[in-house]
Amino acid sequence: MYVEKIFWADPYLTELAAKVTSAAGGSVTVDKTIAYAFSGGQESDYGTIGGHPILKAEKAGKQIVYTLAATHGLRAGDDVLITIDWERRYKIMKLHFAAEIVLELMYQHYGHPEKIGAHIGEDKARVDFAWPRNIAETFPFLAREVQRLIGGNLAIASEFTDKEQEFRHWAIEGFARVPCGGTHLRATGEIGAVALKRNNIGRGKERIEITLA
Ligand SMILES: [Zn+2]
Repeated sequence: MYVEKIFWADPYLTELAAKVTSAAGGSVTVDKTIAYAFSGGQESDYGTIGGHPILKAEKAGKQIVYTLAATHGLRAGDDVLITIDWERRYKIMKLHFAAEIVLELMYQHYGHPEKIGAHIGEDKARVDFAWPRNIAETFPFLAREVQRLIGGNLAIASEFTDKEQEFRHWAIEGFARVPCGGTHLRATGEIGAVALKRNNIGRGKERIEITLA
């Protein structure tokens, strides 16, 4: 059995009662979780399992393996409380969705340029493109459209595309439907204001950095 990912059903949950399903050295698995493990460029959550800080969270197929200090003393069958650092996660969720909007606008309005990288942390998100010029040329358009989408406080639906394979997508009616297994906001208005910054990361490679303003 693999872990039930409650961070999808309720990405706003900050505490969850769960059961340890295995413990070997510092590695622990649980029956259900709210602590996200690095995937799709979105960083892992900070948090605790049974009061022990999560040092690392790694996906292994549909399973998630958490690393705790080897002295955790937990055993299979133990009841534990899982907590996450919500302030960090909420910033990540806002930046993640801002990056989703920027990427989708680039795809829709600039001929689907090749995405060559992406990363979402709590201080900033970045999306990298193969782009032969200064990508700041897109910023007047992007800034206006991003703010329009945020200002419209549009509902974001997050659902399984294929539950068995754990493929998920988010959708905004009239805008986009995009495959992604990250944790998504309920509505665009939660993002607030964002700032865009250009970075040249190599010949023909341009980065858009997004911060919460
Ligand atoms: Zn996403």
